[in-house]
Amino acid sequence: MKVHMRMNTILTIDRQNEPKRVLLLMSPATYRAGAFLSAAKKLNLAVVVGIDLPETLSEYWHVPLGLDFADAQASIRTIVEYAREHPIDAVLSVDDSATELAALASDALGLAHNSPQAAEAARDKLLMRTLMSQGGAPCPIFRPFYLRDDPAWISGQVEYPCVLKPLRLSGSRGVIRADNPHEFVAAFQRLKRLLISEGNSAFETAFLVEDFIPGFEVALEGLLTHGQLKALALFDKPDPLDGPFFEETIYITPSRLPVETQEAIARCVSIAAASLDLHEGPVHAELRVNERGPWMLEIAGRSIGGLCSTVLEFGSGMCLEELILRHATGEEIAAVERANNAAGVMMIPIPSAGILKGVHGVEEARQVPLVTGIEITAKLNYQLVPLPEGASYLGFIFARGETPAEVEAAIREAHQLLRFEIKREIPVLRAV
Ligand code: ADP
Ligand code: CA
Repeated sequence: MKVHMRMNTILTIDRQNEPKRVLLLMSPATYRAGAFLSAAKKLNLAVVVGIDLPETLSEYWHVPLGLDFADAQASIRTIVEYAREHPIDAVLSVDDSATELAALASDALGLAHNSPQAAEAARDKLLMRTLMSQGGAPCPIFRPFYLRDDPAWISGQVEYPCVLKPLRLSGSRGVIRADNPHEFVAAFQRLKRLLISEGNSAFETAFLVEDFIPGFEVALEGLLTHGQLKALALFDKPDPLDGPFFEETIYITPSRLPVETQEAIARCVSIAAASLDLHEGPVHAELRVNERGPWMLEIAGRSIGGLCSTVLEFGSGMCLEELILRHATGEEIAAVERANNAAGVMMIPIPSAGILKGVHGVEEARQVPLVTGIEITAKLNYQLVPLPEGASYLGFIFARGETPAEVEAAIREAHQLLRFEIKREIPVLRAV
């Protein structure tokens, strides 16, 4: 017994001298790896990347933790096995792909995290809507239907304008507004084609039809600690998002909405998080605001996507990922505030389908005052697919300044200077 205790003490002391170890779960295509890895390095954390790769490929590429995200049980076994030799202090999913796995793995390792049910609710739009409306978060009236249902029948069951949306896609893929039964049937066919091409069953797959909520759109970036929401940044989305498709474009922070409206938005997000039982870690929420107040569109248990977080800065030179990692490894972050300037980002939408043949004007656009960076992420000679089917952007424009208005103007000016050469292709439509 004595010896055993001594062993334990030695192990504890040894661990104290070691850096904390964080497991970062990510899909191979994530935009978010670089930001998290460099923040972890700055914080002197030991990082292990759990990547969604088949075992054969991960062995081939010498990836230490190749995981099949679709097989949660096997992934958890691999993680627990790994953690026996290399104790893990926190598990984080850097994007949407593994929020549920992060919760399950944290559970298995005894680490504080959202419950797996909460993580699932933040990814499944029907469950999210059900819990939100039960929990008292204002959200649109919604109804689930199936791809096997007759669209002409559904089109007579719903109110207009409405929005059709898949339960488990993201980035506005498959989200389509319909103003009348005729548009509804066309939108239904399009959504059905997309879902089938993604491997979903034409029979069993459900989708949502919601009331279209008019209004101004905002996104709130927050961090939950024991259920308390800290609003880190509120972004306005100054471009109208009236459909029929909803591509993200410009995000500007701080918000220009009145303080009371901003407070109402934060309260609404707190209620939404509580109704899903999300209580720990980053949240990214999207809302609409109109004369009746804020309305929840969605809340995700992760930080903002793409390269958007680059514009955020906290305290003295801390990035969002650093803040999230500090929080995940048990540091107190309550006093941290966003740096006191305005910042914005544009996710450059894809104007038309085709092959990207050239990008012009990047250097001129970079010279626009207040523009801090332009990243073209689309690859030359690759197919561009616009929404509602597509899943990517042409790239990102970043700017910083004194006021939100001048940041927005700089981003628009830079965007005007960019020219994308896209060679049209005859689209090949797959039959349903
Ligand atoms: P995703 O997870 O794919 O981003 P969202 O539910 O966030 O799906 O919808 C994407 C966008 O579609 C929203 O940002 C918003 O602009 C628009 N949208 C979605 N649902 C509604 C709605 N009920 N009313 C108005 N606009 C909506
Ligand atoms: Ca969204």
